[in-house]
Amino acid sequence: MAEAGAGAPRVSLLACGDYRPDTVLPAMRRLLAPLGGMEAFIPRGGRVVLKPNLVMGRPPERAVNTHPEIVRAAARLALEAGAGRVAIGDSPGVGSASSAARAAGYAAAAEEMGLEIIEFTPVGIATPELPFPRLEAARELLEADAVVNLPKLKTHSQMLLTLAVKNLFGGVPGARKLQWHYRAGRDRPLFARVVNAAAARIRPALSILDAVIGMDGAGPTAGRARPAGFLAAGTDPWAVDAAVMDVLGLEREKLFTLAAAIGHGPREWLDLRLAGPNPADLRPPDWDIPELRTLQMHGGFVERRLPFLARRLRSGIAPAPLPNALCNGCGHCRDICPAKAIRLAGGRPAVVDLDCIRCYCCHELCPLGGMDIRPAGLLARLLGLG
Ligand code: SF4
Ligand code: SF4
Repeated sequence: MAEAGAGAPRVSLLACGDYRPDTVLPAMRRLLAPLGGMEAFIPRGGRVVLKPNLVMGRPPERAVNTHPEIVRAAARLALEAGAGRVAIGDSPGVGSASSAARAAGYAAAAEEMGLEIIEFTPVGIATPELPFPRLEAARELLEADAVVNLPKLKTHSQMLLTLAVKNLFGGVPGARKLQWHYRAGRDRPLFARVVNAAAARIRPALSILDAVIGMDGAGPTAGRARPAGFLAAGTDPWAVDAAVMDVLGLEREKLFTLAAAIGHGPREWLDLRLAGPNPADLRPPDWDIPELRTLQMHGGFVERRLPFLARRLRSGIAPAPLPNALCNGCGHCRDICPAKAIRLAGGRPAVVDLDCIRCYCCHELCPLGGMDIRPAGLLARLLGLG
């Protein structure tokens, strides 16, 4: 393998086995040392926004959100490095950032260090590289002096995994994110380009991935909390994701955002330099990655050119959402479904199969874990794929 150039993005990896404060803070210092320490990224007196994965208000043991000790340690290091103000922000799928942050265990650190919890406000950004001329992103991220991206290692039923790049799509505020799921979510390679475009505009100074305990199986909200035992950090979020794919033993191009970046986005990560242990030595055993069996796996051609056929094939092949016994009929999935494919009948949600675009927002954003994903469609089973 050719040696990476001196300007290639650097990713630091470190084993970290638990979330005790006296484990996490020293581990974060060691993790960032090969990158020049937190002070290399924080302008003195500047406004810093920490962007955790705060998808919904869930306690830390569920591994739905970035762990509060990772957020606390990142804030501590940013303040030590001379930040003038440190805020925590995200646009959760359910509720406000402040209510989700309280439930996720961020309140104590916020109070202790005077951190503000901010709600995002959308501002338009031009995206000439996309078929859509504009995208919205959070003003608070675009105007920050430094964004520190704090993703969580989780499986993702639509995009395979949510890592550093996908976490930045949380910087597309509120309901607009769902509109993008609808417009681009029918075509995953295109959706990956939208995610990449948002990440490229937000351009975090640093990404620190929490993989001490991650989520496998039916992520990003209803999977299993599983120890993974490591941290990863780097300036280039695509490089961080590529290194994490190496740790998990997966082909980098299987991650839609990395595959899309090869054709349409940043490519510096192809030449990344690693610091720390060999990725294979950090590999968590038996990590359960969701099967993605969809038309979009084949480039989205049928979706784009033959939409009527695509609806029927998608219905037969792609795993479909299905309410389970935890569902209490609250109707939130009906309200947020970007394709308006859910009706409430007899106090239970019913999915109109042909209208469902398989974005899995209902699965991701159900507050009770009440929406499962059926393993495979009828056609997939007949073809021996399920
Ligand atoms: S699946 Fe979840 S969001 Fe939908 S009605 Fe049931 S509990 Fe509510
Ligand atoms: S029913 Fe669920 S998976 Fe289907 S389009 Fe609506 S939110 Fe997406």
